[in-house]
Amino acid sequence: MTVRDAPRPALPPDACLDFINTRYWRGKAEPTETLHGAADLVAWAARHAGAPTTTPGPGLFSAGIALRELLHRIMSARAAGESVTEADLAALDAALEAAPARRSLVAANDGYAWRTRPAGPEAGEPHASGAATLLAPILWAAADLLAQGAGSGERLRLRACANPECRWLFIDASRNGSRRWCDMAACGNRAKAHRHYLRAKAAKG
Ligand SMILES: [Zn+2]
Repeated sequence: MTVRDAPRPALPPDACLDFINTRYWRGKAEPTETLHGAADLVAWAARHAGAPTTTPGPGLFSAGIALRELLHRIMSARAAGESVTEADLAALDAALEAAPARRSLVAANDGYAWRTRPAGPEAGEPHASGAATLLAPILWAAADLLAQGAGSGERLRLRACANPECRWLFIDASRNGSRRWCDMAACGNRAKAHRHYLRAKAAKG
């Protein structure tokens, strides 16, 4: 079975954030990168996007990272309540068109998965070849997340961690929608400690 016709899982919409967050501490001069080459990308996609492990073709890694950075720009804009640029939206649409389309359900692993219809354009573009196919469920998840709440007036609870050095993207599932930090134990406590330090310093004069 090839990547192009393998049944693929449906992922929760925020699965696209997991992909974006494979690079983190994005506000620092040197962010932490966890994907260092095509092998890392293929292994990540096998683990998180139900992609069969394959030998990466030329250009797969750079195309995959370009997709990740595209998703990062798009989701960061939405987290800030801004519109996505026309160029980025067009690039995401192109990636969705290059990815195999969800077609029907097929029994897989005690449940069901999407049977896909291979899309055409990638066949003619050997350099971009495969990235959109490899990451198809991530692209679907990103589109589902962007389209979520459309028409209902419900605001997307997509957030970037309030620590400017962190900027980790997450969905705020708190009841009152007031979550600001990726993780209270990490960025939240650090901010609290910093505020405490500033107060103590101010008190000392
Ligand atoms: Zn954080």
